[in-house]
Amino acid sequence: MALSVRSKPYIIPEYSLTGDLLSYLTCGLQYRYQNKGTLPPAMPIQLWFGDFIHGVMEEAYLRWDEHDWKDFPWDWETQIRDIELEIDKRMRSRGLQPPANLFCPFKAEDENQGLCPDHNHPHKLVASIRAEAAINTWGPHLFPLIDDSEVKLKGIRDMPHYQKGTSRSNYYGITGIIDVLSSVKLDEASDKNLIIKYLHQNPVFQYKLENLEKPEYEIIVDYKGMQRPPINSPSWQHHQWQVLTYSWLRSMQPESSEVLVGILFYLNELSLFKDDIQELKRDVEEGKTDIKPYADDLENILRWNDQSEPPALSNSLKKLRSIRIIPVDYDNQKKSLSEFDTVVDDIEGSIIKEVKGCGIQSSWKINPEKRTCDACDFRTFCKESKTGKIYPTVP
Ligand SMILES: [Zn+2]
Repeated sequence: MALSVRSKPYIIPEYSLTGDLLSYLTCGLQYRYQNKGTLPPAMPIQLWFGDFIHGVMEEAYLRWDEHDWKDFPWDWETQIRDIELEIDKRMRSRGLQPPANLFCPFKAEDENQGLCPDHNHPHKLVASIRAEAAINTWGPHLFPLIDDSEVKLKGIRDMPHYQKGTSRSNYYGITGIIDVLSSVKLDEASDKNLIIKYLHQNPVFQYKLENLEKPEYEIIVDYKGMQRPPINSPSWQHHQWQVLTYSWLRSMQPESSEVLVGILFYLNELSLFKDDIQELKRDVEEGKTDIKPYADDLENILRWNDQSEPPALSNSLKKLRSIRIIPVDYDNQKKSLSEFDTVVDDIEGSIIKEVKGCGIQSSWKINPEKRTCDACDFRTFCKESKTGKIYPTVP
């Protein structure tokens, strides 16, 4: 009797825009080790923090909405800490351990010291300082505008350069998660709302608003656990592609209205540590940032040297630098989609190379940039790593 050969299951590879595509663009080899590794799960510090702060903002919105926590600022110990522990618990269940110098995972009564400085838990370490600043700065302005939180986006695209027998599939899936702000909520909001103020100062938004075909519109929002990138950097461009691709995915959902702009929050701008000030100073000196400090802020940044404590910058500068409004237009949207097609093509090509036995380090593109390498778990055996010695860094 002849046995029939079971056909291969039909699988459409699915790519998350931030978790896969942007992560791959940061460094292909790091992405490979982190996602498809035979090694135990490891996650670069920036990625852990990006996931963490995203989760914290989403959970904070739910508590604002459901527990009616409408008064700001929220207290760290009695309100925010519980949110952090909840997000940490969820991330651990996915195998993601918090970096010890970044987050204290213990409750007050815990006898375990872990890598904390003493037993007086909880410690407000870097991740907590950033979470508190993010919630208390943007929560009062952002949460009242949210119409729908954690909206899952999903789309299907043709596999670039599909070849029967070689390609894994003729399609690929692309996914993301956003918060959606609606025109209804924007109309209802207080005239002291800072986000609305910034939107109205944006000429493209203003123009789109005056030329609406229907009265309803939307704004999509995402959070970044990082500093505002310099305008000549790949990240600056990649984040624009991300927002535009999200707007395309959103436009295919039947309940959506026209997306006028996307907003990204660069939440690390709200609490700047030494490394951050150093980057900011360099971007200012080289004229590579779109939101420039002036007066006292400018002087404090230019005068600062890495032997001294980070200068206190004005709240207005920190807020302005932490919000980026990205207009949505059809041509740029199309361009972004084709950019991500190219990224998928690269990843799929690397997978095929590796399957054919080319070896991991020869199959995946390495993209060494000092900041990426410094925070990379794989630097010790990566032949291209830009880091010699190991220093702990903040995300
Ligand atoms: Zn602790």
